[in-house]
Amino acid sequence: MNSLINNPQEIAQIRNDFPILQTKMNGKPFIYLDSAASTQKPKVVIDAITDLYTNYYSNIHRSVYHYSQLSTERYENAREIIRKFINANRFEEIIFTSGATESLNLIAYSYARFNLQEGDEIIITEMEHHANIVPWQQLAKEKNLILKYIPINERGELVWEEYAKLLSPRTKIVSLVHISNSLGTINPVKEIFAKAKKVGVVTCLDASQSIQHTQIDVQDLDCDFLAFSGHKLYGPTGIGVLYGKFDLLDKMVPFKTGGDMIKSVTLEKTIFADLPERFEAGTQNIEGAIGLAAAVIYFQSLGIDRILEYENHLLNYATEKIMEIPEVKIIGTAEKKASIISFILEDIHPHDIGTILDKQGIAIRTGQHCTQPVMKCFGIPATARASLAFYNTEEDINVLIKGLKTVIQTFNV
Ligand code: PMP
Repeated sequence: MNSLINNPQEIAQIRNDFPILQTKMNGKPFIYLDSAASTQKPKVVIDAITDLYTNYYSNIHRSVYHYSQLSTERYENAREIIRKFINANRFEEIIFTSGATESLNLIAYSYARFNLQEGDEIIITEMEHHANIVPWQQLAKEKNLILKYIPINERGELVWEEYAKLLSPRTKIVSLVHISNSLGTINPVKEIFAKAKKVGVVTCLDASQSIQHTQIDVQDLDCDFLAFSGHKLYGPTGIGVLYGKFDLLDKMVPFKTGGDMIKSVTLEKTIFADLPERFEAGTQNIEGAIGLAAAVIYFQSLGIDRILEYENHLLNYATEKIMEIPEVKIIGTAEKKASIISFILEDIHPHDIGTILDKQGIAIRTGQHCTQPVMKCFGIPATARASLAFYNTEEDINVLIKGLKTVIQTFNV
């Protein structure tokens, strides 16, 4: 394996694939450290979308003319590329959605709403993104279900022993985040799911932050459902994926209905289409699916093992450098982490940190990262978060460190 570590030439080539990384922000070279919010897009993705709109765009699944057939073929081919990427068994198991949020809602409203009864229990964790809390809370309210949370410790790791205690004969679903977007913790999902499976519990993985930082194999993980967004995997916004095991999906009733998801409609009744169309009502995000497929091909072409090794190296480098600044405290110090460093800096508000860094061309995220319960656990209102991707460099981190020192000087702490 030809490593990307100490390989500045190849990293420079990779950076050249991303037009936005060549721009300046506030007159300074653009340092992008917010890939956990959304990754930047390589030219191959932009080109795939432009190619569609320029050369063959038409609506899909509807018409017999050539361009419509070609658009349909590319859209369905995108499904196949994603199927292989996550090692799903069948193409019917890949449902295109607008993103992880819609995928998780689909599980709640099309699976859980019909299969859970009053008093049934759902286990999630304290480190979930709101997208994996609110749909369950809403459903729990509607159906009198019980929502239980696996707690986190002071390092931001799940407390395994507590999970064992939460599982009960009434547990019907375990749904959790693979990699926390505010702490960077990598959760031992395989073990958690194995324990749930032993007692027949349906498992659901929020892979929004892991699809781009791990090798996902749905069969190896043995998860029943999995959700992710294209825009965090170098693809377009507005497209996402729900993976579901065929036998489960096939028994589910769609929560969005309308055109393109039916076999037949009469004034009396509707017969739904087979999978996957049943869950893809209305005109789909054609450019999103085609752009996402281009992103996956690009991502794989770099070598996932090489990406993970390099990103891990960058994470260690950034962690060490940030820890050298005594005024900074890292939030989330789990043993197993990926590409995300949340921190606070004395009592300077994270928004002020973000604003000062912005002037220096550095983009980080500040706030509660749609994980208010995590902030509550740590007793803080917000964090600053630097998140990394394979297009970042040690130099990006050096500039961040310099920027943080400017913040400290500005506030005189
Ligand atoms: N889960 C996690 C862990 C996330 O990081 C995000 C996005 N920040 C989501 C779910 C929701 O993703 P989207 O907004 O793309 O639907």
